[in-house]
This record gives sequence, structure tokens and C-alpha cells, in this order.
Amino acid sequence: MIGRFASVAALIRRECPEDPVHLLRPHRLAAAARRFVAAFPGDVLFAVKCNAHPLVLNTLREAGIRHFDVASPMEIRRVRDTLTDAEMFYHHPAKSPGQIALARDLGVRHYAVDCVAELEKVAAHAGPGAVAMVRLAIPQGSGPKGSGAVYDLSTKFGAAPDIFVATLRRAADLGMAAGVTFHVGSQCLAPEAFRLGIGLACSLVGEAGISVGLMDIGGGFPAYYRRTVAPPLEEYFAMIGAARRQWAEPLGIRLLCEPGRALAAEGGSLLTRVVLRKPDAIYLNDGIFGGLTEVYWGREELSLPFRVLAPDGSPRRGPLRALTAYGPTCDGNDRLPYALDLPAGTAEGDYIEFNLIGAYGREMAARYNGMASDAVAVVDADFAGHLGEEAGAPAP
Ligand SMILES: *Cc1c(COP(=O)(O)O)cnc(C)c1O
Repeated sequence: MIGRFASVAALIRRECPEDPVHLLRPHRLAAAARRFVAAFPGDVLFAVKCNAHPLVLNTLREAGIRHFDVASPMEIRRVRDTLTDAEMFYHHPAKSPGQIALARDLGVRHYAVDCVAELEKVAAHAGPGAVAMVRLAIPQGSGPKGSGAVYDLSTKFGAAPDIFVATLRRAADLGMAAGVTFHVGSQCLAPEAFRLGIGLACSLVGEAGISVGLMDIGGGFPAYYRRTVAPPLEEYFAMIGAARRQWAEPLGIRLLCEPGRALAAEGGSLLTRVVLRKPDAIYLNDGIFGGLTEVYWGREELSLPFRVLAPDGSPRRGPLRALTAYGPTCDGNDRLPYALDLPAGTAEGDYIEFNLIGAYGREMAARYNGMASDAVAVVDADFAGHLGEEAGAPAP
């Protein structure tokens, strides 16, 4: 941790960082968590994979999140070491016996499974009291309009309806408590997808004839990127609340959700620096193999708001020009998938701050060419929008 700064300008003036710095804004994380906890009709888990930094976990815990979706031994240890009272859900549907035993020893009780083989493995290694969370596939194209998600999370995991029902029945045969989970896809732009998921899962639970206590409706709630067209989160909560009353309550099922992106994206940005300027291009010190990996996968749909700051921390202005943005590795693919509209005077030594990278930023960075940066700083001032000025920043 480099330190805590009133503004990004103050950080730049004091540190002149040459390597990328991941900036955390705890007040934004806390605000997102409080909004979910207040409005979601059930318990809110945080999907740790999108940002496992201890400061993030602590901030969310203080804002009222007590449950965490974990998917690896590292994430389980990180949550256990950081938050002694957290309840973890091991929501990876393909685990080794050793991973299950480690989770059991660290107090995990809920385990995702999406087939009978994984269920029997959990039954053998998770110990008494384990709850099988059977994962249902929600294909991206399902429903009249599809889920509208940017990423389909049902191509790799999730049971088809017949396997889902068979796995629930096998859990009952084994004497295990059962729950249900699904994921409509990340950055889901259609609240309707959650309603369809809850309806489908509840009807299959009825068909299985098994009593189920919990239904975790996953993450997928959107963050609002430059081109995102999605209703406000309140519309998602209202739709989910109605589906809960219609289908889940009559079956005595309690809802959970496990957002990652919607809780963490606004809580972090990435401060990069221009290493070289050519007439039509800039070379940055970070790129698609580092903190900007998700930009490569999400392209225009996850187009990040950004702003340019001169080496003294003042905002760069002036007429905009589309410049190709290359990352730092020697790989020819290391280029952002779209040109950046930058002030024409953007120069070597300037900083570009990309916002909405608190989810799937630092966690996805690779070590290619030895160029990963793990530097983290806390900033109190908000990011003030595309090429805008930082709210509350002292005059440069
Ligand atoms: C990635 C993931 C999440 C978080 O998804 P978001 O789209 O970031 O909200 C939740 N649950 C599971 C099982 C996941 O794999």
C-alpha cells in the first residue's frame, strides 16, 4: 500500500509513479454495499474473485456484508485471515478432494455442485452439516429476450434441468441439505433474466419434490460503463422481489445474491502513465495483459471512463483526437480494442486514470514480460467522469 491521498492529483505530485497504481475508493465500495444490503430482498454475498484485496473485504464487511462467495483455497484463506466472522460459500462446481477438505477445516458449509459426481465428492469430504448448492444453467439466450449479459456464465458450469433435478434428489438420498444457485451471466442488462431464473429454478425444485432452504441468484448486476444501457439497480431489486413473492416464498426459500462487479467496480480505478507518444498512438505502462485485461474481453461493452492528467496532476484539456493505445509488453496483441479519444496534446509522462476497474482489474493481471504492478493506494476524492475534473480536488 503506497498510502492514502486526498486526490489523484496529490498522489501524482508526491509519488510521480512510473508503474501503474491501483486506486481504491473505500467510500464508494461502502456506498455500493449499503445500497445492496438495504434493497436486495435477501442476503448479499460478495464474489471475492473480482477483488480479493483485504481493504476491499474489510470495507464491505463494515458496510454490512457478512457472506462471501469464494472459489479457491487462496480466496478462502484470504477471507478467513481478514474477517474471522465471515460465512463463506464455496461456489466453484469443480473442486478437488483436498480443496474441499481445506474449506471444511476453515469452516465452509455451503458448496456448489452441478452434477451427481461432484455432489458425492462433497458428501465424502465436506463433513457433516455440509449444504449442497446445486447450480442450474441459465443459458444466455434463454427467455424471450435472453439475459442480455456480456458474459455467459452457463457454458462451463450449471446443470441442465434433468441433471439439476437428479442432483437435488441424490442430495436428499444422501441426507444432505440442499440449496440452489445460478448465474444469469456477468453484466446482465435485463432485470427480466433474474425473474426467469427464479421462476425456472423454483419450478424445477417443485418437480424434484425436495425441500430447499436457499436460492442464490448469483451476480450479474451491471456496472455502468461508458456505453452501458441498463435500468437502475432498483429495477432489478423490484423484479427480484416480485419473483420471490410469486415463487420462492410459497416454497419457503430464502434468496441470496452474490454480486462482484456491481459492488466493486466503482470502488477502484487504475492510474497508468504514457511511456511514449507517437503522432497517432500512445504506449502505456499497463494494458490487456495487466490491469486492463477485461477491456480486451468486454471491448466496447465494458468501455471504461477515463481522464488524462498532466505530470503536475492538472487535467489535460483541448480538442480530442482518437489515438491507438498500446500496452507495455512486447506482444503485438497488447493494444486496447478501441482507440481512446484523448486531448490532442497528450504527451509522454501524462497519466491516464481508467475508472470502474475495482472489479476484475488487479485480480486478472498476468505477469507477462515481468510487467505486473501490484501497487495500491487509497484515494478519498471521487472520479469525476470522462475527461472531467476530480470533484473536491485542490486546485493544481
Ligand atoms: C464471477 C461470479 C460471480 C460474480 O459475478 P458478477 O457478474 O461480477 O456480479 C458470482 N458468482 C459466481 C459463481 C461467479 O463465478
